[in-house]
Amino acid sequence: MGSPSLTGVSEQAGIPATVPGAAPAEEAAEERRRPALSPSRAADFKQCPLLYRFRAVDRLPEAPSAAALRGTLVHAVLERLFDLPAAERVPARAKALVGVVWAEIAEEAPELVAAVLAELRERRAAADTDGSDQVEQPEQPEHRAEAEQPGEAVAAEQIAEAEQPVPPPEPADLLPGWLASAESLLDTYFALEDPRSFEPQSRELLVETELSSGVPLRGYLDRLDVDTEGGLRIVDYKTGAAPREASEARALFQMKFYALALLELRGTVPEQLRLVYLGEGGEELTYRPEAGELRRFQRILEAIWAAIREADRTGDFRPRRGPGCDWCAHRALCPAWDGTPPPYPGWPELRATNTTSATTSATTSSGTAPDTAPDTVSGPAHGGAHGGGASSAA
Ligand code: SF4
Repeated sequence: MGSPSLTGVSEQAGIPATVPGAAPAEEAAEERRRPALSPSRAADFKQCPLLYRFRAVDRLPEAPSAAALRGTLVHAVLERLFDLPAAERVPARAKALVGVVWAEIAEEAPELVAAVLAELRERRAAADTDGSDQVEQPEQPEHRAEAEQPGEAVAAEQIAEAEQPVPPPEPADLLPGWLASAESLLDTYFALEDPRSFEPQSRELLVETELSSGVPLRGYLDRLDVDTEGGLRIVDYKTGAAPREASEARALFQMKFYALALLELRGTVPEQLRLVYLGEGGEELTYRPEAGELRRFQRILEAIWAAIREADRTGDFRPRRGPGCDWCAHRALCPAWDGTPPPYPGWPELRATNTTSATTSATTSSGTAPDTAPDTVSGPAHGGAHGGGASSAA
């Protein structure tokens, strides 16, 4: 593959917003199409209808975070890793790809790099103020551990040194450590599986379909494996640590979403939903869905979509305050926080002007299509209007 597939970040123009937990390519696709239900957007609506509106209807930009961009970087490296001959899929080659992909991101989207460096510098300054000599990166447990100070005595010289004014670190000094943290995630990946031992059927696979009820589904799978007997395994990489209960439920929601989409498209229930967590030493969670369970899950999606369309009909996307507000990029526009949202612009498909091929959906941050289009599985399983690889542009 040529240019990096900047997926996994909100995910997803270019590397759009940094939406915690969002899949980047998925967001890029939504940027150009009519809204469809995706795992991320469904989660948004469940969390806060107004957040859904800001992201899916208004499509307000959100600045990427360092953590999200690192996730994008690692996802792109893991995607490209399988472009190599099997024997070459080793840690050294993967780590070399980190530099390659990062250089491409820096060339195509220097503003993202600047944003990340600014965040790193801010964290370092805050850590210095707190007396720590490490950049605080709560999303990266391995780095958090490094930041903990051992209980050993601090030498007098070090105390004296600490009392001296310290010039703010240059962002360029912070970048190597940040890139090393991405490499650390790759080390974890290799501890969990040997990519020389199999060939994925697809990577960054766009799946889009329409349920018999008319609910449009769209999402990206990190990887789809097929065993020798034709069994499907959906694989999703997570660059954080294995989740607590609430996060695990969210991850399973995402995987069931993909499983249902594949059931619609291929008529078979995936045998495994596999979550690969690359943080904190790594962990894998495997789930085996059943058809009945996925059909019950379908009804949940249909209820969510019905609620979204009703909110569109009335224009009433209510804010729902909660812990997620701390990370919400749109608090200044939120009435729950004394803000004023922009007038409701109406459902994006009413503003559609043309159509967009599904295979151009995973564009780079500069808005250019990758050399090789991502794999695509699409089409209405039930003869809906949302056909083939094309869908209405927003
Ligand atoms: S600040 Fe909170 S309530 Fe307001 S839109 Fe964001 S998540 Fe919703």
